[in-house]
Order: sequence, then C-alpha cells, then structure tokens
Amino acid sequence: MTFFRGMSIQKKLTAIMMVTAGVVLLLTTVAFMVTEIVSYRRALVANVSSVAEIIAANARMPLSYQNQRLLNDTLAALDSEASIREAYIFDQKNRPVAQFVKDRESLKFLGFTENSPQHTRRLETAIERGEAHHFFSSNGLSAFTPVIHDTTRIGMIYLLADLDSLYSRLLWFAIAGIGVMALSILAAYFIASHLQAHISQPVLDLVGKMRSTSEFQMDPMPGGTRKKDELKLLDAGFSHLLQQLQERNAELVKHQEELEDQVRQRTAELQAAKDLADNANEAKSRFLANMSHEIRTPMIGVLGMTDLLLGTTLDANQRSLAQTVHHSGETLLAILNDILDFSKIEAGKLELETIDFNLREAIEEAVELFTEKAYSKGVELVSLIPMTLPQRVVGDPTRLRQVLFNLIGNAVKFTERGEVVVELELDKGRGGNTGIRFSVSDTGIGIDETAKAQIFDSFSQADSSTSRHYGGTGLGLAISRQLVAMMGGEILLDSAPGQGSTFSFTLDLDIEDQRLDVCSAALPHLPDNTTVLVIEPNPTQRRVLTHYLQSLGCDVDRVATHAEAKTLSAKRTLMGHPYTLTIMGCCSGKDTEGTFEQIRLLRQQTALKSSRALLLCPPVSPCLQDNRWETYFQAIISKPVKLASLAQVIDDVLHDRTAMPHQSIPQTASSAPGEEPLVHPLGRILLAEDTPATQRLIQIILNKMGYEVTTVPNGEAAIQTLVDQDFSLVLMDCQMPIMDGYTATRHLRAMDIKTPIIALTADAQIENIDRCKEAGMDDYLAKPFRQAKLLEVLGRWLPEEAAQAEKEASAIPRI
Ligand code: ADP
Repeated sequence: MTFFRGMSIQKKLTAIMMVTAGVVLLLTTVAFMVTEIVSYRRALVANVSSVAEIIAANARMPLSYQNQRLLNDTLAALDSEASIREAYIFDQKNRPVAQFVKDRESLKFLGFTENSPQHTRRLETAIERGEAHHFFSSNGLSAFTPVIHDTTRIGMIYLLADLDSLYSRLLWFAIAGIGVMALSILAAYFIASHLQAHISQPVLDLVGKMRSTSEFQMDPMPGGTRKKDELKLLDAGFSHLLQQLQERNAELVKHQEELEDQVRQRTAELQAAKDLADNANEAKSRFLANMSHEIRTPMIGVLGMTDLLLGTTLDANQRSLAQTVHHSGETLLAILNDILDFSKIEAGKLELETIDFNLREAIEEAVELFTEKAYSKGVELVSLIPMTLPQRVVGDPTRLRQVLFNLIGNAVKFTERGEVVVELELDKGRGGNTGIRFSVSDTGIGIDETAKAQIFDSFSQADSSTSRHYGGTGLGLAISRQLVAMMGGEILLDSAPGQGSTFSFTLDLDIEDQRLDVCSAALPHLPDNTTVLVIEPNPTQRRVLTHYLQSLGCDVDRVATHAEAKTLSAKRTLMGHPYTLTIMGCCSGKDTEGTFEQIRLLRQQTALKSSRALLLCPPVSPCLQDNRWETYFQAIISKPVKLASLAQVIDDVLHDRTAMPHQSIPQTASSAPGEEPLVHPLGRILLAEDTPATQRLIQIILNKMGYEVTTVPNGEAAIQTLVDQDFSLVLMDCQMPIMDGYTATRHLRAMDIKTPIIALTADAQIENIDRCKEAGMDDYLAKPFRQAKLLEVLGRWLPEEAAQAEKEASAIPRI
C-alpha cells in the first residue's frame, strides 16, 4: 500500500485499470470452471449410471447361471467407454465375480493412486447397501447398480469413471483464461496510459505552476518516491498555500495596525498643520483688513484734497498737475480694490449680497461712469436695456456693477474709434429659467486666439507691449470671471484681432417684480401723436433712441445725415404733418462751426421750424462750450441715453418747462473751499477720527455744506465731548487709538445718549457692518466715500439740514 501511495498518478491509474481487468477476468474464468465442473459431473453421473444399468441388465443372465465367460464379455464391452476405468460385478454374497480394469499406466500418469483403506471401506459399504448409488472421490466417480432378477438382488455392478476429460478441459480453460487475462491487462495498460494523460496532465500542470510560482516556493518533498506523487504534491502545495495565506493574513493584520497608527499620527500632524494654516489664514484676513484700512485712509486724503485743490483758482499748469495727482489716486484706488477683491476671492471670503435692486438704474449708472473717457476719445457709448426686461431683480448689484465696470472699462480702453455697446436681453437661463444676458461689445483692437485662452487667468494680458501701452494689472477679467461664476454664470468671449470683442454672460436673476415694462409706469405720459425725427449718425445710438421713443408711444422717423433729414422733412411739409420733436445727434467732432451751420440750415426746414429741438450729445461735447446751442435747441439729451432722463426731458420740453437745460453740464467751481466760521450753522456734527488728513477733508466738506464741525482724535474724547455738548450727529471712525469707535458707541448708548452715530469704516465687509449695528451705531459710511454718499447718509439722519446743505454743496466739486 505504501508502495502504491508513492506511485505517480499516471502509474496509479494504469495499475488500477490493469488490476481491475485481471480480477474481472480471473473471476470470470473461475466462474466458468466451476460451472464446467458442475455440469460435467452431472453429465458423467447420468452417463455412468445408464452404462451401469445396461451392464446390470446384460449381466442378469450370466450371473444367474454363474457364467464366468459371459460376465467377462459383458464387462469387456466397456472398453469403448472412454471414461470408465474400472468395472466389477459382484454376486449375491458381494463377492467379485468379474472385473475390468483399463490402461493402468495412463492412470498413474494422471496421478491416480491405489485405493486408500477409507475408499475401500466406502466401496464395501456401498456394495453391501445393494442399491443404486454413486459418489465422487479423488479416484473419480464410483457408481453402483444392483442386478435384479424377479425382484431379487442377485448381484451388484460397480463402475469407476475417471475425471481425466474434466481435468484436461479445466486445464485448457485455465490456459485460455490466463492468456485472455494477459491480453486484457495489456490492453488495459495501453488504454490507461493513453487516457490517464487527460486526468493526470491538468493535475501535473497545476502542480508545475504551483512549484514555479515564486510566491509559493515549496520545500523539497521528503523521500524520492514521493516526488512522483502529484496528488501528494498538490496536497502539499495547497497546504503550503494555506500556510502562506495564514502568514500573509497575520502580516496584513499587523500592517493594518501599523497603518492605523500611522494614519492616527498623520491625522494629528495634519490637524496641527490645518490649525496652523487656519491661523495663518486668519492672520492674512486680519492683514488684509488692516491693509485695507491703512491704505484707503491716506487715499481719502489724497483724493479729497486734490479734489478740493481742483476747486480753487489754479493756473493751467497747477490744474494739470493736480488733475494728474487725482487721476493717479483714482487709478491706485482701483488697483488696490482689485487686489483686495482678488485676495478675498482667493481666500473664499467674498460673500455675495442678495437684495432687490433696479436693474436699469444699476446698469445705466455703470455705463454713465465711462462717458467722459469714451467720448473724449470719440468713441460712442451706448446702453440698450429693452423695456421688456424686468425692472427689479434680486442679486448683488455692487458685484454686477463691478463686473460691468471691468468689461466696459476694458472695452473703452482698448477701442480707439467706433463704439462700445452694453446690451441686455432676455435669455434662456439654466434649467429653463428666465435669464438675462449681459453683453459688452466694442469695435476695438480685438483679441487673438492664443490670448483668448489665457486672458481670464489672473495677471494675464493679451501681450505685454499692449499692456504697457494701455496699462492695467491683468486682474480685472480674473475677478470678473470669478464673480460671474459666483453669481451662477460664465463669461464668454467672442473676438477677432482688429474686429473688436464681445464679452457676454447670462445670469438667472430672481425677478422681484413680475411686471415687465414696469419702468414705463413710472415714466411721464407723453402726449398722443408725438412725432419725432431722429438725426443720428451712429446706427446703434439710432436703434436705441428709436426703441426707447417707440416704447414711450412716439411715432419715430430716423435718419443718419442732415441731407436725409432734409428730404424727409420736405416730404412731411408737403403732407402737412410737421414733426413734434427733432432730436439731433452731435458727436464729439471738433468742427463746431460746421456743425452749427448744418444745424442752422436744418432748422430752417418748414417741417422742423415749428418742432421742438433736442440736442443729443455727450456732456464733454465741444458744442456745449458754445452758447449758440441755446438758440437752436430747447434742451439737451445727454449721451449715453438713459430712458428715464429721455422721457423727462421730452416731457419738460413738450410742456415748456425748460428755462434751463435739463442736463447739468459740469462747471468749474471758481471759489476755493472755505473754512470761514459759519454764521448760522445748519447743525453741529462731532467727528471722531484719528487721521489728520481725513479729519481735515471731512471738516472742509461739512463746513462748506454749512455744518459746524468739532473734531476729536479718539473714542474717549468723543464721549467726553458728547457728555458736555449737544450735537446733531456723530461721525465715528471705527478704528482709533485709546478707544475705538465700537467701544465708544457702546458706552454712549449705555449712557443713554441717543445722538445718531454714523460709523466711518475702511472695511465694508458684511461682518463689520453687523458689528457696527451691534455696537449701537445707526448707519455707516465706507471710506473712501464720495461726497454724494455723505450727503445721502446725512439726508437720512438730518433730512431738513441736508436738503439745505445739498444746495450749498453744488458749488463743491464731486469727490
Ligand atoms: P487689465 O485690463 O487690467 O490689464 P484685465 O484682466 O481686465 O486686466 O484684462 C486682461 C487683458 O485682456 C488685457 O490686458 C487685454 O490684453 C485683454 N483685453 C481685455 N478686454 C479687452 C478688450 N475689450 N479688447 C481687447 N483686449 C482686451
């Protein structure tokens, strides 16, 4: 068995098949032989018994007569019976009287021996029994038959048949069986060796693979024979595999624990780093806030003082120098604001406001700021806000204005001739909502494909030589893009070098007032049948005017040139329908004489003579320097056209309410800002402010407005002064030495002093405004502020005095 176990699977399979074939054949041969023996013996018994009966019948007479010769003859006939070896006839007294014995030598050859005493005794007993009987012994078949005469037994016949034939048959069976068995085993061997490959080969392959895999290198197997036992190898391989898996598992658990330790350690390190970064970020925010305060504060001084300086009598050189300082100050402030905004966006500190605002006003105001810059270059500036847009929307007007301010600023900066158009239209917003599309187009230098890809990146400019020529930091578009993204839109650019550019974006602004065209409800109602002739060379400007006039209910004819106007008005004269109004565009061309001559000639046209005439021109137009415009026109419509102003001017003209031109024309202040003591002050204002320049600036402005101002350098002094004296209002700087504005206000409120307190803050972040309110302040002014803003705040808290002050202030130039 051990030997078998050690064999290869191939040999095992062959052995099993061969043994099975051998055993089957052996059993079959044995079964055949047993069957042969049984049937042979049966046939032999039958044959020998019938021969014995024949002999008994033949021997009856000779035995009765004691005829020895006949008895011998009777037995001699048995010579022909191949199987009978001996035969005897016994008389009545069981004495042998005749016998027949065949070929003794052959018997010896077949191994028969002489009768043994037991056999002899058995024979005697059987003869004495005297009846038909047989039995097998080692000598062969012994058969006994009585010889009966008239029912009396007169003798006995005894025949002994040998089994030679049976033995020789069995011998042949055995030989044939062995031969067949040998052949079968051989066949089994060949079949097994052929078929076993299908079973053993995959196993062998598996073992081979297992042995060749370096991961599962097995130890050499003990015992040479065992190496051939593939199943053993397989078993060993799997055991090895399992053992390795268990080892790996243990290692894995160990690693996992180590990893968890590492993660815990790293997390702690990260947490520490995060805390550090948070602190650094906080420090950066604080630094930004301080920077904002520190840089903006002197800026108030610079801008305000130069503004005041420009209001005094200066010679041309001094004025030019002061204007340069003012312009540089404004540029510096703009850059500063951009940098601060950019850092806030980067730090994620910039939060958008959500308030409802008048969309038209917000856009028109932003556009108006570029009037001077655009028209001084001869560039038309047009804003088209269709009447179909909602009037009030919800969003962050400041940031929207900032984006447009950037885009319009760039458009004006990079355009030398042609026009800059700001257009709004209804668009499909995201998710099918109503969106508003804002676009700023220009006819400027355009942007090439390479530059397009990067100009939205911070500090990137289309090309450095251009930026040197035009100036700029390269931050505007980066900020605008991020602001628009925060508002849920995306800035798109369509541009080609030399063809101009269009920047556009669509925002889903919530509509506060669902009524579209609500604007027109607030506009004056113009008389029916108002006919207007628009003479304007710029097609976009003509389109805008026509749209606005038609929205106001006017019947509009538009032409580009005076010649066309003449033809059209001649036709009208013939029809007997003169125009109610003529609006005549005058660009910023330098040829004032030519323009006025054209106007004079045109005004002589019958159709236009009776019509009221309006001059459409930018506030910086040279036409306005000449008083002759008053001869030809009843009023001026300032470019860029604002819907409400247009409607108001037309209404005033049609109702003869225009003794003075409606649009105010910038005038140069002649008197210097005074600091003379006020005889009848409008009110007393306490100014708590630590920066001398700001102190002085605010004091001059307020004095000029007619207020008496007392200045203190810190919160503590402010409290002291307010306890002693009465004031109409307090302007309180938030950051001051000794005691800041917040603390001072808290003390004042605790002392039940209810004087309105306006915070002056250099940082208008929402949390700062909340802080002011919490401290008990009533309102705030973000520095640097414009004079109009100061007036607006004063108007809220000192309404009557402020109205008076506004009149006084008109003599002071804008900050
Ligand atoms: P800045 O104008 O301060 O340099 P911006 O981010 O606003 O920074 O603009 C980046 C660059 O994009 C500009 O320097 C200019 O090269 C290009 N650019 C922006 N707008 C226009 C425009 N309307 N026409 C031509 N080039 C423009």
